[in-house]
Amino acid sequence: MFSKLDLPKMSLGRVAYLIDHETQKKSKSVKRFLDVDTQKKLLLAEREYKRSEDKYDELSEEDSVGVFSKKDAKLVYKNRFNTVVRPEFLDQYQTEACPICGVAFPQELDHVLPKSKYAQFTVTPINLVPMCGNCNHEKLASKVSFHPYFEDFSDLRGLEFRFDFKSKAIVSICFSDGTDDKLKNIMDVYKQKRQLALSANRLLKRIINSISMSENKLNLENIGKVIESGESYGGLEVWEKKFYKNLREITDEFYTFLCNEANKGNE
Ligand SMILES: [Zn+2]
Repeated sequence: MFSKLDLPKMSLGRVAYLIDHETQKKSKSVKRFLDVDTQKKLLLAEREYKRSEDKYDELSEEDSVGVFSKKDAKLVYKNRFNTVVRPEFLDQYQTEACPICGVAFPQELDHVLPKSKYAQFTVTPINLVPMCGNCNHEKLASKVSFHPYFEDFSDLRGLEFRFDFKSKAIVSICFSDGTDDKLKNIMDVYKQKRQLALSANRLLKRIINSISMSENKLNLENIGKVIESGESYGGLEVWEKKFYKNLREITDEFYTFLCNEANKGNE
């Protein structure tokens, strides 16, 4: 979740080559895209983008690059890039998980700087991020974005799980003081807070099930053992490790809750 991706291996030159060679009939917009001056300007814009790193969202918006307009850019993307270039672009990331949710495979491309404002980056590889369909569609129109080629929030620093056992078992997500505002914002923008809360509640249910099915007596020690065995399972996600850590901190409360649950079942 919110992990860094390797920079795309594909260059803007390769994009132009594919569009030029794989396209039989060249539309006016493709011809304008292949114009030498336009290509030079696009390359300069790409270079500036690569240098901008943490200031990428301060790059200037452009309606056109020479004769290549925003409308041309959209047509080239829709009619050429999507069909001719996209498969090769995504090929590099086919074994990676979606950089947003870390769950599904990335099958779509998201424009970090939107093509409605930045004509010059519509087909620029560094502005195109592979993403799963869900995350791409969940993304809210917002200035706050996450750039997986430059940024890494995969340690989810400051994110915590809170357990409420008063009425029924509910896990909620909160942030400790001093958590990076950007993490909070991108959790909202991509609706990952809700997704993570759902996953955390499912995990809690699984833990409760394995405790109630355990043949050992319901006591603090045995409950602790079930939690420990889940925690020692290899290949846990970052959020799962945090979940178990926070759960261990409230084991007494959890035990009381479990006894109540077990009693309810026996009524
Ligand atoms: Zn995703």
